[in-house]
Amino acid sequence: MAPVKKKIAIMTSGGDSPGMNGVVRACVRMALHMGCDAYCVYEGYEGLVRGGDYIRKMAWDDVRGWLSEGGTLIGTARCMEFYERPGRLTGAKNMVLNGIDALIICGGDGSLTGADKFRAEWPSLLDELVEKKELTKDQVAPYKHLNIVGTVGSIDNDMSGTDATIGGYSALSRICEMVDYIEATASSHSRAFVIEVMGRHCGWLALMAGVATGADFVFIPEKPREDNWKEEMCSIVQKHRSLGKRKTIVIIAEGAHDKYSNKITPEMIKDLLADPKGLHLDTRITTLGHVQRGGTAVAYDRMLATLQGVEAVKAVLEATPETETCFIAITENKIVRRPLMQAVIDTKAVAKAIEAQDFDKAMSLRDTEFADQYASYMLTTTANLSTQFQLPKDKRMKIGFINVGAPAGGMNAAIRAGVAYCISRGHEPVAIHNGFAGFARHHGDSPLGAVRSFDWLEVDGWASKGGSEIGTNRELPKESGMEHIASLVKKYKFDALFLIGGFEAFHAVSQLRIAREEFPSLRIPMTVLPATISNNVPGTEYSIGSDTCLNELIDYCDKIKQSASAARRRVFVIETQGGRSGYVATLAGLGVGAVAVYTPEEGVSLGMLEADVRHLKDVFAKDKGQSRAGRLILINEKASKVYTAKLIADIIREEAHDHFESRDSIPGHVQQGGVPSPMDRCRAARLAIKCIQHLENFGRDAADRVMSDPMSSTVIGIRGASVVFTPMKEAEEKETDWANRRPIDEHWMYMKGTVDILGGRPAYPKPEQRLTGLKAKDAKRGLD
Ligand code: ADP
Repeated sequence: MAPVKKKIAIMTSGGDSPGMNGVVRACVRMALHMGCDAYCVYEGYEGLVRGGDYIRKMAWDDVRGWLSEGGTLIGTARCMEFYERPGRLTGAKNMVLNGIDALIICGGDGSLTGADKFRAEWPSLLDELVEKKELTKDQVAPYKHLNIVGTVGSIDNDMSGTDATIGGYSALSRICEMVDYIEATASSHSRAFVIEVMGRHCGWLALMAGVATGADFVFIPEKPREDNWKEEMCSIVQKHRSLGKRKTIVIIAEGAHDKYSNKITPEMIKDLLADPKGLHLDTRITTLGHVQRGGTAVAYDRMLATLQGVEAVKAVLEATPETETCFIAITENKIVRRPLMQAVIDTKAVAKAIEAQDFDKAMSLRDTEFADQYASYMLTTTANLSTQFQLPKDKRMKIGFINVGAPAGGMNAAIRAGVAYCISRGHEPVAIHNGFAGFARHHGDSPLGAVRSFDWLEVDGWASKGGSEIGTNRELPKESGMEHIASLVKKYKFDALFLIGGFEAFHAVSQLRIAREEFPSLRIPMTVLPATISNNVPGTEYSIGSDTCLNELIDYCDKIKQSASAARRRVFVIETQGGRSGYVATLAGLGVGAVAVYTPEEGVSLGMLEADVRHLKDVFAKDKGQSRAGRLILINEKASKVYTAKLIADIIREEAHDHFESRDSIPGHVQQGGVPSPMDRCRAARLAIKCIQHLENFGRDAADRVMSDPMSSTVIGIRGASVVFTPMKEAEEKETDWANRRPIDEHWMYMKGTVDILGGRPAYPKPEQRLTGLKAKDAKRGLD
C-alpha cells in the first residue's frame, strides 16, 4: 500500500506584509517537492474557522509569479472568533475534516500567539469534539499532535528571537524612499519635517530609518530620552543648523512617549521646532501610513521568505510529538528554528517592560543589532556636540580612510559613521582620495591634494549617497610602489588605516601586512570593511553594496518579466555581474524565481543546456496561459567563456522551433545601484564604527604590538550569527581562493539547490569541474 501523503497547509494572518506571497510560494512548492499535498487556508484564521472553500489544495503553477507580488494573495483577516475557544474548536474540526497534518502560519506576534494557544489546547479541543459527537474517536486518532510552525511576517520587525521579520526591510525601504524625497524639498525651502512611521511598541522602523537617512533625531518607544528631551532635541537641531545644514528631519514612531509614558506626538515636536522664541523653523508633519506596507518585497525579504518557507516545511516534516513547537528565525545571516512559546513570551515582555517604564529591560529584550544601531545612531547624530566620550590626548589617533576597488552602495554611509565616531572620540579622520593611485600621485596640499581631514558638514549628508564620494580606485599598493606608499604613511603620520572596498581592498591589506617586515611605517593597525556588489570577500558572508545590487537586479528582472506579457512565451537570459562569484546571480535567481542560474563555480556545459532547453519545452507545452510573464535564466558574467548570455539565448531560440521566444539582456552597471539600500546603509554604519573601535584598541605607537598581534590587520565580517574580525593572515592563507578571487567556502552555495527546487528545474548533468575551489588554493597566489 502506498503511504498516505502528508497534507501541509499554509496560511497568512494578521497585518499583511511584503514577502508573505514568497512564503506561500516556497511552502507550497517545497511541500510538493517533498511528496506532500499542499493546501492554502484563505483569509487567515477566519478561513480556518469557516472551512469549506476557504481551505484549498494548491498545484505547482498556482503560485507562479508570486514572489513579485505585494500584499498576500491568499488574503488575511482579523478573526475575532479565534480569540475564543469555540472559534478554535471549529478551526480544529476543519483541520481534521480536511486531513491537514501540519499548519504553517505566516503572521505577526498576534497570529503566532493565537497559534501557540491553539497548539496548547489541541488535545482538549479534540476531546471536546469527540465528546460533543462532532467527530469520532477514529477520525481524530491520526491527529493527536498538532504540528504547527510559525514564520514571522510583519513590517514592524517586532518579534523577539529573530533579527528580522519578513516585510521589515521592505517597509524600511518604502520609508527611506519617502524620506529621501522629503529631504530634497526640505533642503530647498530650508524646512523641518516631522515624519511619523509605524511601530506601536517597536521602534525598529523609526531607528533604522534614522540611521539610513541620517535624520537629526528619532523617537522610539523602547528608549525614551531623559527628562530634558526637548532641550536635547532642540540643541542637536540647533547645532546641525549652525553648521550650515538646510534641512531638519525628525522621525517618530507612532508609539513614542517620554520616560513617564506620556505620549509624544508629531504635533508636539512640530510646535517645538516652529517655536518663534526658539528654533523658529518652518515645520511640516508627514504621516506615512499605509504606504509603508505597500509594494513588492525587497531582495532581502524575498530571500527570507523563501528560505524560511523551505525551512518551515522541513521543520513540520521532521517534527515528532516530543519536539517543541518552533518558529523560523534569522540571526545575522543564519536561518534557525527557535521555540515559538518563548519568543511569544519575550515579545510580550517588551511591551510590558515599556509599560512598566523599565526601558533598559525593553532594550535588552531586543536583538543585539538593535542596541548596536541605537548606539551608532546616537553617536552619529551627536557627533561634534559633546566631549563626554573623548579620549585623553595621547590616545587620539590619526586614521586614514581609503576606498579601494569599484564603488558599492553604503561606502559613503560607512565613511560618515566612521568619521562621526572618530570625532566623538577626538581622533582625526583623514580622507585619502581616489584609492592608492590617488594617494601615490596626488598627495600634497594642492587643490588636487588627495589627503585631507574630513569636515563633518561635508560627510553629514552622505548617509544615503551612492557611489564613492572620496573616490575609489582599483590600484593595489604594490602597483603604486610599496616604498612610496610606506613613505607617505610616514609623512602623514597615520596611526591606523581603515579600508573600505571589495576583493582589491582585501588584497591591498594583504600586501601592506606582508610589507610591514620591510617598512616600519606600515606597522600600524589596519582593517578592511568589505564593500562590493559581488560579495566575494573572504572573512564575511556579506559585503555592503551587495544588497543594493540585488535590489537593482530584482527590479530589472521584474520589469523584464512583465515586458513579455504582450508577446507571451518568452525566455530571458540575463547576464549579471559578480566577478567569479555566483552570489549575485544565485540570490537574484532566488528573488525572482529563475528557472535556472549559471554560476562560475559550477560552469556551463552542453549537457546542462540541453537538459534546461528540454525542460523549457516541457514547461511551455503544459502552459495553458495562466501567466503571461516571461521566464528567466540568470547567468553570471564569468560562468563560461564560450556560452555567453547571447549564445544561450540563440541556442534556446533555435531549439524552440517557434514554440517560444528567447532574448538576452545585460543590465550592466545598473547593478552598482543609484541610491544604496537601507540595509547597506545601516550595516555600513554599524560595521564602520566597530572597525574604528577595533583600530582604536591599538592606540598610537603600537608597532611592537602590531608585529606580534595577528589582530592588527583584519577583515570585519558577518558570519553565521555574529560580527567578527578575522586576522588577515588566516583569511589569506586558509579562506581565500586567490585564483578565483573569492572565498574557498561560499556560505550561500546551499541556496542554489533551493533556487533549482523552487524553479522546478529537473536534475541535469553537472559540468565537469575546472580548476576551481580547493585545487585553486594551491595555485600561485598571484600577489605580484
Ligand atoms: P498580527 O499577527 O499582525 O500581530 P493580530 O494581532 O491582529 O495581528 O492577530 C491576527 C489574528 O490572530 C487575530 O485576528 C486573531 O484571529 C488571532 N489572534 C491574535 N491574538 C490571539 C490570541 N491571543 N488568541 C487567539 N487568537 C489570537
